[in-house]
Amino acid sequence: MPLLYHWVGKNYRRDLDWGAGYHLNQSNPLLQEIYVGDSLWAFTRTTTGKYVLAMELVVRAKTRNPNGFRYGSYRIWGDLKRSRYFRTEGQPDISELIRRLSVKANSPVIGRSFQGHAAVRRLTPADHRLLVDYARHIPLEPRARLLPEEELEARILLGDPDAVSNLITTEAPGIADERRQYLFEQTPRRNPRHVQELRELYGGMCQLCGWNPKSQYRRNLCEAHHVHWLSRGGDDALHNMVLICPNHHRAIHRTDAPFDWADASFLFPKNRESLQISRHTLQAT
Ligand SMILES: [Zn+2]
Ligand SMILES: [Zn+2]
Repeated sequence: MPLLYHWVGKNYRRDLDWGAGYHLNQSNPLLQEIYVGDSLWAFTRTTTGKYVLAMELVVRAKTRNPNGFRYGSYRIWGDLKRSRYFRTEGQPDISELIRRLSVKANSPVIGRSFQGHAAVRRLTPADHRLLVDYARHIPLEPRARLLPEEELEARILLGDPDAVSNLITTEAPGIADERRQYLFEQTPRRNPRHVQELRELYGGMCQLCGWNPKSQYRRNLCEAHHVHWLSRGGDDALHNMVLICPNHHRAIHRTDAPFDWADASFLFPKNRESLQISRHTLQAT
């Protein structure tokens, strides 16, 4: 069951500016009904008032957000290889296309038919095919590219701001200005202190498996991981970080394991692993 989502223009632009998230939060339970492998199509409104196609999120996982999370209880995660953000500049207005879909969009201004709970709608397979067809020739949004997070974090852990800046400079074309500026200015300065705090809080242990290199080898080998990835706009703050061993860290990044707030667990392709040790409060960002 594919879905159609009306993405309010300013929220769409903010998501891009802060690092394309490749996920969607909503309070509408349709987000839990969509199947893995189905598409959620999003359209938005440009600053010049045109309705355009913004994204096709091919669902890879569905998780819950913490209670009271301001963007809603449900989250779907897009498959990074198959999901795509479309370039909105230069697209024609798609109001007529939306009216051809089975969703009832009768209001003269399309957006008004998609307010509040109605922002998410079911689509039929025929609707989906129409959108696939339409999207075939739309260029992709170059800013929706992810930073090589593992590499970024490795350099941050070295505590070498120049190495971090070099990486961001090399990757610059894909990162929106606001995000790049934030990473340049904030990341090298703030991060090492948080990592230190985490290591003290957990005595250097992996929160997932309890591995304790501090006692075994007298070295701090566990690493901080940002639950909401930095490069996708996550906060560089303790409430968005966990301390985990290098093996778990690699596994999370290589599989892009979503974090499920329902039971504080990471969803790996074959199983779910929850945090065994938890001494600080995490907050969704
Ligand atoms: Zn571990
Ligand atoms: Zn990480």
